[in-house]
Amino acid sequence: MGRAKKSSGSRKPKHHNKPKPSVAAASTSLDSDSPEPQIPSLLNENADIPSTETTPLFSVSHLPQKGLALVATSPIPAGTRILSEEPVLTLPPKYTALLAAGTYKPVLKALTEQYNDLAPEQREQVLLLSNPLANDFPHSLLGTFVSNARELDEVSGMGLALNVARVNHSCVPNAVTHWNRETECLNLHAVRDIEVGEEVTLGYIMLVKSGVERRRELRERWRFDCKCEACMLAPENQEDEEMEVDGEKEEGEKKVTEADRDKLISSLLALHPHIQHRDTLPYKVSLRCREKALKLFQQLHIAGQEITTCLFGAAMKATEAKDEARKGFFLQMVYENILMTEGLDSLETVLSAPGLPGYMEVQDLGKESIEEGKFEDWLWGDDRVAVASA
Ligand SMILES: [Zn+2]
Repeated sequence: MGRAKKSSGSRKPKHHNKPKPSVAAASTSLDSDSPEPQIPSLLNENADIPSTETTPLFSVSHLPQKGLALVATSPIPAGTRILSEEPVLTLPPKYTALLAAGTYKPVLKALTEQYNDLAPEQREQVLLLSNPLANDFPHSLLGTFVSNARELDEVSGMGLALNVARVNHSCVPNAVTHWNRETECLNLHAVRDIEVGEEVTLGYIMLVKSGVERRRELRERWRFDCKCEACMLAPENQEDEEMEVDGEKEEGEKKVTEADRDKLISSLLALHPHIQHRDTLPYKVSLRCREKALKLFQQLHIAGQEITTCLFGAAMKATEAKDEARKGFFLQMVYENILMTEGLDSLETVLSAPGLPGYMEVQDLGKESIEEGKFEDWLWGDDRVAVASA
């Protein structure tokens, strides 16, 4: 489909090198005495991403019981940018605050002005979006916007992008969105390998919550009952499943239940205060908490920003402990995670790239200096692992 530009022509000039406060910007101050970071030129030159319009990785297709959905038309490896698009309607924070307060008139005016500026085919596509909140707002444009927009960031507010709006929710999503304020594009990145024919999904809410809480929130905010693979483990969704014949359970094939999953989630919630950018635990205790949390994220199939935060906090702890070797590895992992979820043209990616001052230590200790097969143990704080001196 043709991507008509907004006709308002009010876009701000792009500032690709403008620093802003962020996870990675903060990471450059790990060494308070480091000089100003130099942005690696290689990354800047390669910042242009290939257009997904020439080789679309997805189609917008009708799925039974789900309606329209984004479906992969070719294999999409983790880290791939599935699409990148400018929102057609946006609401800066002052308007989202009015919206939250129920003061709809100025919000509707702002949205209507933008809507009227759109190309006719874009207007048509906005009208075709689902509006489960039609009864909650005095005008369908408000309901459609709130139902389909994504939160961008604290500066940009909310934005509705036409293809991203077609991505359905899952509590175990295979993709994440990232708002790139420099390019003013909402990007969708795969966080797991996605197969041909598989639906591309996003988490609309914070996912580290019990199944009951997630479904309640989704019902309240979007009026739907989640039937994702995690929610299908819930007792109320098990009725149609094949009834198990008593005593016929195959050995070693214990079925995962929602209670099992919720148990992992409560373990992760208990670790939450200790896996942020900063925590008050002793160094090695903090590392062990972070290792445990990452394993839980993996078991739950949840990827994204929380993992970057957890790893970045590990790098901060290593910095405090003057443990240059581990710090290097953690920063490398932070970089890889940001690259996967945000892409090369993200300022956070550029600022967290190895090679910046303070990141050089990563080359000092090769994995080969660490006792074979014990790298992970060593990384997360086991000092019994032998390390060969350089
Ligand atoms: Zn779900």
